[in-house]
Amino acid sequence: QPELSGEFATLMGWADKVRRLKVRANAETPADARMARSFGAEGIGLCRTEHMFFDAGRILAVREMILADDEAGRRAALAKLLPMQRDDFVELFEIMKGLPVTIRLLDPPLHEFLPHTEAETLEVAKSLGVDVERIERRNKELHEMNPMLGFRGCRIAIAFPEIAEMQARAIFEAAVIAAKTTGETVVPEIMVPLIATKAELDIVGAVIRKAAAAVEEETGAKLTFQVGTMIELPRAALQADKIAESAEFFSFGTNDLTQTTFGVSRDDAGTFLGTYVQKGIVETDPFVSIDVDGVGQLVKLGAERGRATRPNLKLGICGEHGGDPASVKFCDSIGLDYVSCSPFRVPIARLAAAQAALAHRKA
Ligand code: PEP
Ligand code: MG
Repeated sequence: QPELSGEFATLMGWADKVRRLKVRANAETPADARMARSFGAEGIGLCRTEHMFFDAGRILAVREMILADDEAGRRAALAKLLPMQRDDFVELFEIMKGLPVTIRLLDPPLHEFLPHTEAETLEVAKSLGVDVERIERRNKELHEMNPMLGFRGCRIAIAFPEIAEMQARAIFEAAVIAAKTTGETVVPEIMVPLIATKAELDIVGAVIRKAAAAVEEETGAKLTFQVGTMIELPRAALQADKIAESAEFFSFGTNDLTQTTFGVSRDDAGTFLGTYVQKGIVETDPFVSIDVDGVGQLVKLGAERGRATRPNLKLGICGEHGGDPASVKFCDSIGLDYVSCSPFRVPIARLAAAQAALAHRKA
């Protein structure tokens, strides 16, 4: 396990004394969570649960969950995934020992989960006990031209609430277990991805709260948790006052927000952004440093509108920008509570947050 030591650790200690912004990490594996802690992360700001589903022991059940014909079929697949998800979260809560953990509901580009070969198609058909043709048909129905603008984020939870229900249940059951093993209160923060409207958040929020009530009833435990949302679409930033009525926290997803504000695919930007920087059209790659004039304005507006509705709304950022010093400075200037970045960037973010606070003091 890498540790910060010697003069570097001392410097970090100084940085921690002056910074206002909290620093969390984006982590979903136990290894990343441990690394995040050893680098000084003060919580997990983004646990991308879709990453947990690519595991060789799970992908078949995930495919069944997506390709099943009906709710009963999906529920059968979800029953296989529930104990695995519960174990995932128990481990994360135990490693984080009472520090905040934000778990985001499934946000896959669906196509990555669909079977890609004949053998994979055959395997799902066999496991579901249906004809290969049925799986092929369903696979075709789900094919999308633009998956990143398609059936992902909360749209999955709205179409298939039982998936969100399974994940919420896994989180709550894990919270009850981890509270016992760690002796710490576990307050999960459940985050809904790709929200554009309050109505979406209300639907998914109701599923989450119902799962909480069921787990409380079954275990006799009293759960404390928060429901919040990603703000990663321009519409969500503009509607932040309404969305904040139903959210206890916002986390700005500046990867998608940059993609949707510029109308530039985050996966394909490399083909021309270099030329744009060279010609001075954009100062720096907006996927690296927050574009203060556009994306940044939406973040600022979202923060202001959200806090106008709910003054104690917790605000963070969990896009790649959370570990970029210039972006961290911007986040400090608009009053966010924390940045969340890859574990390796946590020390950089701690330093950048301190530099931002010092600059703020001088100004
Ligand atoms: C984002 O969009 O900024 C984000 C953090 O979510 P993801 O990168 O998983 O889409
Ligand atoms: Mg996103």
